[in-house]
Order: sequence, then structure tokens, then C-alpha cells
Amino acid sequence: MTHPRQRNVSAARWNADEVAFGIDDLTRPQNQVFGVDVFSPAVQRQRLPKDVYKRLQRTLERGEALDVTLADAVASAMRDWALEKGASHYTHWFQPLTGHTAEKHDSFFNPTGDGGAIADFSGKELIQAEPDASSFPSGGIRSTFEARGYTAWDPTSPAFVLENPNGALLCIPTAFTSWTGEALDTKIPLLRSMDVLSRSAIRALSTLGDDDPQRVLTTIGAEQEYFLIDEQYYYERPDLQITGRTLFGTKPPKGHELDDHYFGSIPERVLAYMMEAERTLEKLGVPIKTRHNEVAPGQYELAPLFETSNVAADHQHLVMQIMASTATRYGLVCLLHEKPFSGVNGSGKHNNWSMGTDLGGNLLDPGDTPHGNLIFLFFCSAVIQAVDEHAGMLRATAANVGQDWRLGANEAPPAIISMFLGSELESIFEAIEAGEGDPSAPGSFLGMGTPVLPPLPRHGGDRNRTSPFAFTGNKFEFRALGSSQSLGLTNTVLNTMTAEAIDDLNERLEAKLEAGTELAAAVTELTAEVYKAHKRVVFGGDGYSQEWQDEAAKRGLLNHRTTPDALPELVTEKSIKLFERYEVLSEREIEARYDVLVEQYSAKLNIEAETCASMARTLILPAGIAQLSRVESVGLEKQAAEVRALVDTFYDKILHLEKLNATEGELADLEHAKFLRDEVLPAMESVRETADELEKIVADDLWPLPHYSEMLFIK
Ligand code: ADP
Ligand code: MG
Repeated sequence: MTHPRQRNVSAARWNADEVAFGIDDLTRPQNQVFGVDVFSPAVQRQRLPKDVYKRLQRTLERGEALDVTLADAVASAMRDWALEKGASHYTHWFQPLTGHTAEKHDSFFNPTGDGGAIADFSGKELIQAEPDASSFPSGGIRSTFEARGYTAWDPTSPAFVLENPNGALLCIPTAFTSWTGEALDTKIPLLRSMDVLSRSAIRALSTLGDDDPQRVLTTIGAEQEYFLIDEQYYYERPDLQITGRTLFGTKPPKGHELDDHYFGSIPERVLAYMMEAERTLEKLGVPIKTRHNEVAPGQYELAPLFETSNVAADHQHLVMQIMASTATRYGLVCLLHEKPFSGVNGSGKHNNWSMGTDLGGNLLDPGDTPHGNLIFLFFCSAVIQAVDEHAGMLRATAANVGQDWRLGANEAPPAIISMFLGSELESIFEAIEAGEGDPSAPGSFLGMGTPVLPPLPRHGGDRNRTSPFAFTGNKFEFRALGSSQSLGLTNTVLNTMTAEAIDDLNERLEAKLEAGTELAAAVTELTAEVYKAHKRVVFGGDGYSQEWQDEAAKRGLLNHRTTPDALPELVTEKSIKLFERYEVLSEREIEARYDVLVEQYSAKLNIEAETCASMARTLILPAGIAQLSRVESVGLEKQAAEVRALVDTFYDKILHLEKLNATEGELADLEHAKFLRDEVLPAMESVRETADELEKIVADDLWPLPHYSEMLFIK
């Protein structure tokens, strides 16, 4: 058997016994694992002295600073709990601007001086730590100010214990800030934006006659798409290892044309993997709900139940981390890149988002009373206004180098931000705008003989998968995010822009009420005004079509196709004004994020270009030459001419790419990003094009890389 066939046979072989942990009786409490590795409120109640627990809860509810005696008591209980779970070390777990999480482990144990050691963990160590922060990207914040940064405990996201075959680690979710108080992470702005939205929504609820809720919480449920491939192929692919995507590879004869993968039965090894990853996540308190095959071969999806934004964003990072680490135990690699395989659907992340009160009400749920309808219409109108006003920024939060392969490529929403309301809801807004609908007058509404909005189908058939921002019954689903992205920035923007719209609508509503208009009439009027002004952003048709591209241009909607086009939206005067007004991000903080994102784009593209040139020269060119010498050696001149022509072209293209790669540029500079996009990327694509031609004619035993047909189908 030739080498490639051998490789496929061993990739396909899998022994369930090596990783099996068996089947348990799930009616027995000891077999229920949800949250067992979390220092949850329930564990806290059990382990903390009563008064300490009460004081902690009060502090959390009011969002006050923790005093040190309280922190000492919590730290001591947390340490004992963690030690019992085998954790020898703890870490402040945080989210710097890298887009990933960061951790530095410290042992609980200190030598006693007499040859022994005792476990120690003070309130001070719980509350604050100082990692060596100088190597995290800060977009210039630290270099001009203080060099140091510190992490601070976020008691609103519970601590957890991460298990390893050889021990365990206590992870304490923390915020990361400079000594000058500037946010160096994604958590602080998210928390600020949640507060801002809560304050605005509570004010508006009060105007709407609802004074009971004390707090409004934003919620997220993030559906995650990913690929699994056998690790053998992965390690034979420098492009996958270094850049997360294949820079070479011809499309297989079979893709997803047959639609036989979506919701298909899950292969045993993959299911076993999912079960372990989900079990680990469950222990960590991440409520995983759904799993299924996705559209592309080798592609899957996992979805949790929604949680408060801050916790959901932390949990999303855990999901990505556990999915990746569990895969290796199954001889698999989990790919979270947005576009690992050219010509095959890429992976996204759907950000389901809503606002709910501390009393359990969902502000985006149409409700079944006239008053519930008014609240819904008010908040839904606010979201419509916000998305129209800040569409560019929302688009920018979904931008990264991988996303440029997906958005607008007929597998993910277009780069144009529009909203899908569903035909029922859209016609309600249309009617209100036309002065036909009065949600408060019994029987009059849309002539439906009902005093309330007609029930909107939650899981209706006409859900529009092509829309980037869709209403799905009681929440909006922002579908433009990429599979590797963190939820922080998107939701910071979403919350802040919605807070602004809520405040604006609230002021206008108050003015109407003061002028003597009655509440229902005032909300209806306001809804009509908002819809009239912003309905250009509402679109229910096919977002993948050329007609929509044309129509959107006519409507004046933004259409930023690439990351270098989209990112500047973060730092427009309008965006900066919004963030500053709500003190979610200062001008320097938002500019820092912009700089880091531009730099990441350029750095990643640069790495891809160098990987591409090096693989082309050291793996693919030699294969072409070997093929050439093989056909020449038997005197097959016609075939030799074919190969020689390709090899020659290929070599020239490599030289061109190498020359471009040698051009230096400032990574955080937008012009350099555009140079990479306009010159380097096309040169890479051109190298690839010829490589893929060679792949079709070079003998299989000479071809140095696993084919798409192998990576995607053998599992
Ligand atoms: P569908 O996409 O079919 O409507 P679900 O309604 O079950 O499916 O929800 C999909 C995702 O939306 C899940 O992750 C779920 O947790 C999340 N979700 C549901 N309700 C909310 C909400 N109020 N806020 C945020 N996310 C939500
Ligand atoms: Mg989905």
C-alpha cells in the first residue's frame, strides 16, 4: 500500500475503550455532574459563615466594592474547596486583547521554614494580582502611561476548578486593567455596558409605568460551529498548524451538495468526543443544550442555554478551550477557524441576545397583555434604531482575517448589516407606521379581534438564515460572528448602542406624556416614528442575492466587505462619542482596541503569506519537480511539457510572493493592512491556484499533503 492509503487506514481506526468512562444511572444524585467544579452560590451558601455569605450577596446585588475582611473569609472557603478538588494552584483567569484567555499559575503552598509547607490564600490574593502585563497587547495604552497592569476578581462570574489528569487548577475570573484605570481586557467594557443598559432600561420601564424591576440584565446564548479532523492530517499540514486554515487543497469531488451531513447521524467517535467535552463543560457549570452535524462534511455545532452576558462570555471561552483540549484525547483536532477549507462552508458563531429584568421578564418577548405589548414595541423599536444608527460598528465587531472569507460569501450573512423581523412582526410595524395599529385598543389591532399582538411564531418556518440580525421570537440573533471570536466586544457595542437608543426613545416618550398624550397612544406614535426613520435597515428577503446588494446600496446601508474597511467604524466620531457619553470606553480605550485589531489582521495575514511561500517552496515545488523527473525519465514528453509549464509558473509566483513578503510595514497601520489585503493576499491566492492544479496531476505517492477528500471525510 502506498503511504497516503496507509495514513487513511490508521486515521479511520479508533478504539472506544481507551477513552470510555462508561454509562451511569442519571437518576442518582451522585451521577449528576452539573456545576460540581464551580464555586457556585450554592457552594458558597454551604461553606461560608452565614453573615459572610449574606454580606457577599448584598455586595454583589448592589455592585459595591468588597471589603478585605469579607474577601479573607471568601478566600479561605474557596481555598479549602479547591484543595478538596485537588487544586494545588490558583490563577487569575482573564481576557486580554489577544482574543484569548490568559492565566499564570501560583501555588497555594508556602514553605513554613521548618521543612514543611502550608496552603495559604488571602483575601488580597483573591481580589488582586499583578501578572507581568507588559507582553499583552494594549494598543499603546501602557507604553505611554504606566507599564503595569493588574487583575481584579470579578465576583459576578463564579470561580471554577479545571481538571488535568495530573492535578487541578482553581480559576478565578478577573478583570484586567492598567494602574491608571484603563481597561486592558474585554470583560471590563462588557460589564460597564451591562450597567449602562440596565440604567437606561430601568428608567424607560419606569416611564412605561413599571417600577418593580431593580435591574435589567442582558443575556447571551452563543451557538458555536466547528470542524473536527483526524489529528494525523492536522500534523501533516503546516498550514493548519500555523494558521488554522488550509492554504492549499483542491475541492473534493463530493462536498455538501448531497446535503447528507446536516443533522445527519453523528459518527461514534465524534459523539464520544462531544459527550466528554459536554460533560467537562457541565461540570464547569456551562449549560450545554444542543449538538448536531452542521452543513459541511466534518462540521458540527454546539449550543448552550443563554446566561447573563458576562458569564456567557466567560463560558464561551471555556467552551472553545474545552472543545480544543478534549479533541486530542480522541485523536481529533477541533478547528475553530472561520474558514479552514476553501470552497467548503466555514464556521460562525450566533450571538442570541436579549434583555431581561431581575424579576424574570424578557423585554423582547411580545407578551400577552396590552401593557406587555407596549413594553415590547418600545424596546424592539430601540433595537431597530440602534442597529440602524450603529450598523457599521456592529459590522466591525465581526471583522477578522478569517471572517473576510465568509461574510458575503453565500454561506454566512452578507457584510451589510440589516434586520429580519419576520413577516408577522414586520407587518405589525408597517401597520403601526401607517396608523392602522393600536396595540392598546381591544379588538382594533390589525382587525384581528384581539386586544394583543397576534402570537408570533417562535420557531416559525420562515426564519431567515441569510440575515445578520434576526428576530427569533423573544430575542435577536446576531449571526455575523466568526467561530473563533470572543463575545466581549460585540456585546459591549450591542448593549451600549441599545442603551443610547433606549434613552433617546425614553426622552421622546416622556415629552409626549408631558404633552398629555396617553401612554398607549404615545408608544404607538413613537413606534411609528422610529420605524419610519429606520426601516431602511429592515429586510426580509434573501440576503445572499445580488438584488439585495443593489437594494442596500440604494437604501444607503454600509457594505464593508473586508476587515480593513470595517475596522475604522470603531473609531468614527460617532462611535467614540457613544462610548464616551456612556463611559464604556474612553477614546484611548477604543482606539487601543482598534489598533490591536488592525495589528492582528496584518500579523495573521503576514504569517499566512510566509507559511504559504515556505510550503510552496519546500513541499509542493519539490513534488512538482519529482513528478516532472518521473515523466521525463520514461521519455513522456507531452506529459513532461504539461508539468514543466505548471512548475515554471509556480516558481515565478513563489518568487513574487516572497518579494512581497519582504516588504516591511507597521503592523498596526491601516495602510499596511490594505497592502496585505490588496497585494499579498492575491499573490497567495495565485500561488495556491497553481498548487491546486499540480495537486490534480502529481502522483499521489509524491503529493506531500493530505487531500481535502481525506481530511473532511475520514473519521
Ligand atoms: P432557535 O435558534 O431554534 O430559536 P432556541 O430558541 O432554543 O433555538 O435558542 C437558540 C439559542 O438562543 C440558544 O443558545 C438559547 O440559549 C438562546 N436564547 C434563548 N432565549 C434567549 C434569551 N432570552 N437571551 C439570549 N439568548 C437566548
Ligand atoms: Mg446554527
